[in-house]
Amino acid sequence: MKDIALPPSNWPDMEPGWVWLCGAGPGDPGLLTLHALNALRQADVVVYDALVSPEILDWAMNAELVYAGKRGGKPSAKQQDISLKLVELAKAGKRVLRLKGGDPFVFGRGGEEAQTLLAHGVNFRIVPGISAGIGGLAYAGIPVTHRDVNQSVTFVTGHDHTGQAPGSLNWRALAEGAQVLVIYMGMKHARHIANELMAAGRPGDTPAAVVCNATTPDQQVLETTLAHLADDIEASDLQPPAILCIGHNVKMREALDWQALAEGAAPRSLDPLGVKAQGA
Ligand code: SAH
Repeated sequence: MKDIALPPSNWPDMEPGWVWLCGAGPGDPGLLTLHALNALRQADVVVYDALVSPEILDWAMNAELVYAGKRGGKPSAKQQDISLKLVELAKAGKRVLRLKGGDPFVFGRGGEEAQTLLAHGVNFRIVPGISAGIGGLAYAGIPVTHRDVNQSVTFVTGHDHTGQAPGSLNWRALAEGAQVLVIYMGMKHARHIANELMAAGRPGDTPAAVVCNATTPDQQVLETTLAHLADDIEASDLQPPAILCIGHNVKMREALDWQALAEGAAPRSLDPLGVKAQGA
């Protein structure tokens, strides 16, 4: 039997019949929380999503692994079936770990799953995770906030449950009000999104980045501008999962691409926003 050491603390026991709804982080196993690791040690069954890394699943000690992946455009388990599977396993007295990519409550339908558990009288615990829109950008050297750029961040999903670019979003309001946009599931609709934002007045030269497979060994980053975003994606071999970031914080990557720095590259700029030069 594997044993995974946890530092000494008062770790909660996973009770039979409970479901722990945990985030697994964006990919790098080191970004898992200790509560999630504690759950992996105790779970009888792990119901996991497509974006959970195999190495993390390997840390499940005695658990049965059940795949419940949903990837855009591909045939996949229905949300209600997944939720009811959790209920069924819990009612059978299992310790159930529901492991989701990133954070379970960020575009992860964790709230819906928890509501179904509640409706069926199943006890649950929520363990947050590092969301791709924050941690994934950090691995690309893009601070999601930077004092000289933004005092707010807007997280957006690039498509709704119909698979279309979300018609319910007020792109004009976003273009005018959102200092930095972080867009999940936006690759497919990047052209539509960029056109809407520019039509609503967002300058075409606004910095933009696409971060694919963030925090994994396959991470790829495209730096571009809002005007060139869609063409540059099309001309690249980039594939989802990807986070799009639109805003001047993207410029900070010229200084803060720490993975490139670690490999010996020189920073492209020490002052990407040009604020120090102005004496700010
Ligand atoms: N709950 C997750 C998001 C689920 S929606 C979270 O908090 O991160 C799935 C979308 O998340 C993907 O389409 C992609 O936009 C983004 N995503 C998740 N993992 C990613 C990764 N490693 N790199 C880039 N984007 C990622």
